[in-house]
Amino acid sequence: MVSRVIPVDPFDLVVFGGTGDLARRKILPALFRRYCAGQMPEGSRIIGAARTDLDAASYRTLAAQAIRDHGGGRACEDGTLDRFLGIVDYVTTDAQGDQGWPDLARLLTKDLVRAFYLSVGPGLFGDIAQRIRAHGLANGQSRIVVEKPFGHDLASARDLNRTLATHFEEGQVYRIDHYLGKETVQNLMAVRFGNMLFEPLWNSQYVDHIQITVAETVGVGGREDYYDRAGAMRDMMQNHLMQLLCLIAMEPPARFEPDPVRDEKLKVIRALDPVEPHHIVRGQYDPGGEGPGYREEVGRPRSTTESYVALKAHVSNWRWSGTPFYLRTGKRLVARSSVINVVFKDAPHSIFGPEAGRHANILSIRLQPNEGITLHVTIKEPGPGGMRLTEVPLDMSFAKALGPDGQDPPDAYERLIMDVIRGNQTLFMRGDEVEAAWAWVDPIIAGWQKRGEVPKPYDAASTGPLDADQLMRRDKRAWRGIKP
Ligand code: NAP
Repeated sequence: MVSRVIPVDPFDLVVFGGTGDLARRKILPALFRRYCAGQMPEGSRIIGAARTDLDAASYRTLAAQAIRDHGGGRACEDGTLDRFLGIVDYVTTDAQGDQGWPDLARLLTKDLVRAFYLSVGPGLFGDIAQRIRAHGLANGQSRIVVEKPFGHDLASARDLNRTLATHFEEGQVYRIDHYLGKETVQNLMAVRFGNMLFEPLWNSQYVDHIQITVAETVGVGGREDYYDRAGAMRDMMQNHLMQLLCLIAMEPPARFEPDPVRDEKLKVIRALDPVEPHHIVRGQYDPGGEGPGYREEVGRPRSTTESYVALKAHVSNWRWSGTPFYLRTGKRLVARSSVINVVFKDAPHSIFGPEAGRHANILSIRLQPNEGITLHVTIKEPGPGGMRLTEVPLDMSFAKALGPDGQDPPDAYERLIMDVIRGNQTLFMRGDEVEAAWAWVDPIIAGWQKRGEVPKPYDAASTGPLDADQLMRRDKRAWRGIKP
């Protein structure tokens, strides 16, 4: 199936932090891939901005290297990279001083969409937003894109929202959670709201429980200081896992448009019960394999920051009353895997008798790797020997079945950046959503601190602390395996 590419209007995109890790690993390669796909019309420009003193030619060299290193050149014609570099520019700019701003203002084209991507630490959001206004960089079609972490707690998230609101309307602010840009996440909405098959069963009458797992094999290498101040709860649970929970649990929005979708997500967060302390497990990895343990890696032998968290949540509304949501995320686990499992209840009565076995239907939504959706259904085990039941997967692997010409689906950053240019905020978090998520998370963290809780150790390359298995076993349930 060949994907349809709808060109956007010409734009100027300024990447503050254009020399940084995120720009090199994700933003520049994603932009190049969209250019290859023919989505960027003539007249569009990408301008890197950071303090490092570079001329445009040196920045183009940096961009070319980043694109080569990070898979930007997939299925591109020869010569495309050179043409792409022709639309790339750079201005040495100090977010906290005056250097560069008049040059940036001169470079921007009148009347084009202007997107300002703040790929810098949140401490600079206010400085940059204020200077964009003060130096007249914003026009009627300006958008500002900000990365996670959006705050450290509710108070700091509110501060950031207030700061951005001083200079930009909420309709111009794009808070990125790249999980929402994944093909599967949008397909989850298509599966739920575009079919008659699932939605009638999507409630506590038919769904036993839901598991959301985001497992990483990497440790905290390279981000030690940030991570040790954040931990898994702030770094992953408050944003990515809660966003996935919202999309699974939300009511059908009236339209697939930014505010109807975000209103429904917000209602889910507000319906979350506070989490009981015995429904949460925190963990921290021990040394194992080739790698050091968490404390050694961050260089703090007494750190009590969690690199793993699992919890049981309840969405208290009519649809989900009595159906628990089990969420877990961690580092240095056995495999890299992000998956949502919707586990349906057993059939009320087995006409085949106990010896035939029973298998619950499970809808597995895989976000990475191998994005796709699998429905596990029960059938007769083939062959003679009586009626024994077995589970088979009905597989929708997007890469194989739906990817353009057998390619992988577009990277989340490709889709999200193009949505920014189009002015479509549906897949971006609204300020009140972020604040509501912090309001749910803050008391959990405060409880740990008050009780002086220390995370449970777990083996590197395992599925996490044993207590997390116990969390499920107490409810006569089990986690699905963490598989690559
Ligand atoms: P980074 O590698 O440290 O890059 C920071 C960038 O900001 C550099 O280009 C730096 O360039 C620039 N910068 C710093 N101070 C500046 C100033 N005063 N004026 C102008 N530019 C300044 O950080 P990163 O990993 O790219 O992360 C950027 C943001 O994205 C952070 O908020 C991070 O939490 C978030 N994020 C990153 C990732 C990731 O995978 N890296 C993933 C999700 C979210 P100069 O030193 O040349 O000024």
